[in-house]
Amino acid sequence: MQIPMQTAMQIDFDALDETPAPFAFEAGTSWWRTHVPAQQGFPDPPEQPLRLSVRAYKTGEDVILEGMLEGSLELECGRCLARYRQPLRESFRLVLEPAGSRVPADPEAAAALARDGLCLGDEFETGWYREGEIHLDSVCLELIALALPVQPLCREACAGLCPRCGVDRNVSPCDCGEVRPESPFAALAALRTNRGDR
Ligand SMILES: [Zn+2]
Ligand SMILES: [Zn+2]
Repeated sequence: MQIPMQTAMQIDFDALDETPAPFAFEAGTSWWRTHVPAQQGFPDPPEQPLRLSVRAYKTGEDVILEGMLEGSLELECGRCLARYRQPLRESFRLVLEPAGSRVPADPEAAAALARDGLCLGDEFETGWYREGEIHLDSVCLELIALALPVQPLCREACAGLCPRCGVDRNVSPCDCGEVRPESPFAALAALRTNRGDR
């Protein structure tokens, strides 16, 4: 079944029942410019919009959201500084209970509940919702953050730049040898050698 692609990341929770309803959203350049905080180290908008697919249904009063964020982003390799395309694929399952008259103790969560009709717990597994239209922008943002690699690498075996002469060791070797100042063991070994000289 072809699910119509939506750009506004909203789901009407009041219309949900126990039969899973499929939704599909796109996070492209305009969504990126509106919702991604520029100062927090997020990459540039994707060339092709990221896709957020969601199945939403109710069990009793709880709303279950499950789905997947997919796409790719251009990142900078942490070793050789080259730009490369990083595939993203992050699945999720959220169990949301009605907030009722409760207000989250955390001011950020309280603001999210007021703004989006939804706030998430620390573990990104549970949350609270209010009735009506629910905005999933912050869910999407969280999924992007989860999907981004801790250390971006253009490939596992990237040799990186030489810390001494700066040459890209993927392209050409240099004569600096195997000194690896980033290794704490190398630093320790150097320390021992120096002591032995005295
Ligand atoms: Zn690299
Ligand atoms: Zn070198």
